[in-house]
Amino acid sequence: MSILLEFPTWMHSLFLLCFGLLVGSFGNVLIHRLPQEDPEERDVVRKGSHCPACKTPIKPWHNVPLFGWLWLRGRCAACGWRIPFRYPLVEGLTGLLFAASPWLFPIGTLIWFKGLLAGFALIVLFFTDFTEFMLPDAIQLPLIALGLLLTLPQMIWPDAFRPIRGAGDLFLNVELWHNGLQPAPGWHLYGAPVTWREALAGAVLGYGVPAGMNAIYRALRKTDGIGMGDFKMLAWLGAFWGWQAMLGILFLSTVPMILLGVPFALLKSARDPQREGSVWEGLGQHMLPWGCGMAAVTPLVIFFGPGLWEAYMGLLGGR
Ligand SMILES: [Zn+2]
Repeated sequence: MSILLEFPTWMHSLFLLCFGLLVGSFGNVLIHRLPQEDPEERDVVRKGSHCPACKTPIKPWHNVPLFGWLWLRGRCAACGWRIPFRYPLVEGLTGLLFAASPWLFPIGTLIWFKGLLAGFALIVLFFTDFTEFMLPDAIQLPLIALGLLLTLPQMIWPDAFRPIRGAGDLFLNVELWHNGLQPAPGWHLYGAPVTWREALAGAVLGYGVPAGMNAIYRALRKTDGIGMGDFKMLAWLGAFWGWQAMLGILFLSTVPMILLGVPFALLKSARDPQREGSVWEGLGQHMLPWGCGMAAVTPLVIFFGPGLWEAYMGLLGGR
């Protein structure tokens, strides 16, 4: 294991790129199948890859990430169905995430694992929310539990943390944890790792704050403004990164939601033939994909949150 860890970063990166492309391919399966209503259609493990349009099984060499899509020029080999650009996009993004990971976090550490897992989940959730307005429980509920569980090692081995300088040196201050056998599950970005209290508060507030906002919205508009999936998304992000980051994600994600989401929903409302009343009254019926907004701002908060917060307080404080 330690020999593997001593390979140069670019070699880790190259290996992880290939692995990430395959994981991205699985991401497409999750995005397509998890929002389905029929439980049999939701099976992401046993069912082989098939064309969603004509159900023809996909040949293994057509299923190679990115290259299969390029080779087929974006069309199903059997029926000519246009394969959405989302497929190579998800594969490419996941490949990039994996390839970038050893440059951002020391490979093999727990913060690296957390970053990869959260990053992949955010890619999948961005696209289920974008295409189906849905954030599947099958992904989000286990992540809430996992975020809390990942705070356990520091409680079991409290003396095992020692601070090291991470890659980049600019914003990372990673805690590396050594269990006596290997330098592994390590930690955190800024100072102390996320404690179980911060993770628990993140999960509870992450669910509670938007639930409260929704209760107010419902009292005013008589309709749900925020979906339940959005609460759960904030809950697992809170469990992973602590309540401070969760609040940052909540507030920062409202900016793209207001700038992009409201005009988008107004446009859909204006075009809706079944709309009753004014365009503004139709706004509530057109859900905003808030999960997309949260997914987009999360990396900003994770990497630059404290800096952004200080800059914001500096602006408020004036001089
Ligand atoms: Zn087909």
